[in-house]
Amino acid sequence: MSLQTSRRVRALVTGAGGFIGHHLVKALAAEGYWVRGVDIKYPEFETSAAHEFDILDLRRWNNCLIATEGVEQVYALAANMGGIGFITANKAEIMHDNALINLHTLEAARQNRARRYFFASSACIYPVHRQEQAEIAPLREAEAYPADPEDGYGFEKLFSERQCRHYHEDHGLETRVARFHNVYGPQGCFEGGREKSPAALCRKLALAQPNDEIEIWGDGGQTRSYCYVDDCVEGILRLMRSDERAPLNLGSDRLVSLDALVDLIAAVAEKPVKKRYDLSRPQGVRGRNSDNTRLREALSWVPSTPLERGLEKTYRWIEGELRRAKRIR
Ligand code: NAD
Repeated sequence: MSLQTSRRVRALVTGAGGFIGHHLVKALAAEGYWVRGVDIKYPEFETSAAHEFDILDLRRWNNCLIATEGVEQVYALAANMGGIGFITANKAEIMHDNALINLHTLEAARQNRARRYFFASSACIYPVHRQEQAEIAPLREAEAYPADPEDGYGFEKLFSERQCRHYHEDHGLETRVARFHNVYGPQGCFEGGREKSPAALCRKLALAQPNDEIEIWGDGGQTRSYCYVDDCVEGILRLMRSDERAPLNLGSDRLVSLDALVDLIAAVAEKPVKKRYDLSRPQGVRGRNSDNTRLREALSWVPSTPLERGLEKTYRWIEGELRRAKRIR
């Protein structure tokens, strides 16, 4: 697709030192945007493609004013977040940090007269009671209310989605909101406690010897859909160029169990492994899938990278990082 812009738009990407933000900066720069990246850290694995990269803590109001100065578009991806273990154990810190980041970034964007604002929301905003079975109907956007989101992280995302709507209603800021569903791919965190299941499993498989035991959180029957990062970035760009103001799912609608995910990665790794289930670990909701009906209608597009291909790229990259660190031969 051609995403060429006729003039050089100035854009801010917050969370540019993180996984999706880093890929987004690269895509925007390749499209001809002038990009300012902001984060509390630089990207871990590769130099940023941003034209300017500022280390700023966006919980602080003054830093949000500095970050949003002179940009027409804001892509708000900064968040204190991680996989299910991290978001279950750190609810107070997550709500505190992310509410401050999002309230201040939105208001600073308004004061600095940004025209368009993208907010990275999450499938965690959906009601917990709609996700209690593994074989579950995909979640439609309208099901977000009556609200019963994932405690902590999901509550804050739903609140900030609503604040985006109010900034449009009250101030005319063009806001766009995507609810990401389990984004994975190269350059993401794969160890240390914040990693998500695809990256954690790729790491475990890469470090395993054939027929080793792999630890699985829960009983392996929980289901999710997984979206490759290139699809996520393309969806963000398309949504930002669209007229769609209501939140949209941005994810794959291929539902797989955690067991099946392990099998797919083991096939890429060409390593037969045994699974050991740890039922004491948090596993999140039982089942979650993305209904892409509205995404297709609004953007005439849906994510299309096959899970097998995305896992192959992710596994090879993590394996390469571990090899570079001399942790595997
Ligand atoms: P990530 O953790 O890799 O990136 C988030 C970035 O925000 C990090 O680099 C972090 O340092 C930065 N950050 C945290 N606190 C900050 C602060 N006070 N000031 C400035 N920067 C700060 O996560 P990601 O996977 O790239 O996620 C990007 C966005 O997408 C987040 O808002 C996340 O909640 C959302 N999301 C991601 C997924 C997913 O599957 N990865 C799913 C749903 C929603």
